[in-house]
Amino acid sequence: MKPFRHFNAASVDEALALLTEFGGKARVTAGGTDLLGVLKSDIFSDYPEAVINLKTISGLGGIVADAGEIRIGALARLTDIAESPVVKKNCPALALSAASVGSPELRNMGTIGGNLCQDTRCWYYRYPDKMGGRVPCYRKGQGPCHAIRGDNRYHAVLGGRKCYAVCPSDLAVVLAALEAGVKTIRPAGERTIPLADFYDTLGPVLNPDELVSEIRIPAPAANAVQRFSKFRLRESIDFAVVSVAAVLEVAEGVCRDARIVLGAVAPVPYRAVGAEDVVRGGPLDQRQTELAAEAALRDAEPLSGNAYKIEIAKTLVRRALRL
Ligand SMILES: Cc1cc2nc3c(=O)[nH]c(=O)nc-3n(C[C@H](O)[C@H](O)[C@H](O)COP(=O)(O)OP(=O)(O)OC[C@H]3O[C@@H](n4cnc5c(N)ncnc54)[C@H](O)[C@@H]3O)c2cc1C
Repeated sequence: MKPFRHFNAASVDEALALLTEFGGKARVTAGGTDLLGVLKSDIFSDYPEAVINLKTISGLGGIVADAGEIRIGALARLTDIAESPVVKKNCPALALSAASVGSPELRNMGTIGGNLCQDTRCWYYRYPDKMGGRVPCYRKGQGPCHAIRGDNRYHAVLGGRKCYAVCPSDLAVVLAALEAGVKTIRPAGERTIPLADFYDTLGPVLNPDELVSEIRIPAPAANAVQRFSKFRLRESIDFAVVSVAAVLEVAEGVCRDARIVLGAVAPVPYRAVGAEDVVRGGPLDQRQTELAAEAALRDAEPLSGNAYKIEIAKTLVRRALRL
């Protein structure tokens, strides 16, 4: 790893001041489970001059239910979220997604803010500089996406276009289905970004001087059924090949509302609006769930080696809708 200056920020204000001082040449870190790997492999075009530790800021890791919403501080660890009675009661799908991440060690260190902001796992983008040199690509601002012609078995089947790397965050998929907002802070002020707008093709839409401070989830309806499932190759430690989150409101056998989001199939969490339209207003019977699964993947455009993801996604959608 190349040298950099390291700061333990005592407050959000201090972290923001440091980000300003280093003018885009600093990175923040929380658990460090993603950032340190990226630095070791020398992936960034600009190696940071400073790394600012956020974990030394107190009061950013709380989990509370209050005034019709659940608020989770950016420094809440994935273990905290998986085990939190507040999260399990109000957002069980989020607890499941946190529990599905990596290993106990990663969940004990990794935070929700870091999980949402982690870098993609595309193997062309992540190819370590020390193993024969950096692989330039569209995401690095230097050429085409190699997944288009290369080994693309884990890449996007929806919405790829210029970069086919998928969003790796399991929590983002559930938070999109829960219609959460991401509260951020920068010297210019605060804003809350709907999770649906938090990513573009190249990752989070944060400014270089902007921090995630909190996740805000509107309290789901008491009768809402929440689902999260994840297909991965290894049950122990593995990223999703495909995941699905669903929030369903069903009364008297009729689906009144549905939010269905697919993970690891697109550069952003993919809201399957077509599937939601199919199931809303009718019974969640076998015919409807079949139609919804087809609708969810209707726009898929697989690459040479990843059409198998479409069938897995359809299966996960069918299962998520089976009450
Ligand atoms: C072996 C392995 C398996 C994994 N499996 C999974 C998996 O199955 N599912 C999954 O979802 N993830 C998985 N991950 C990723 C893991 O969840 C993330 O590494 C972790 O959540 C990142 O959190 P962190 O606090 O350690 O972030 P850090 O490594 O500290 O930071 C990650 C990124 O987020 C930025 N960042 C951190 N906090 C903030 C903040 N508050 N505001 C703005 N930017 C911030 C950092 O600058 C950095 O760019 C895996 C990782 C590994 C190494």
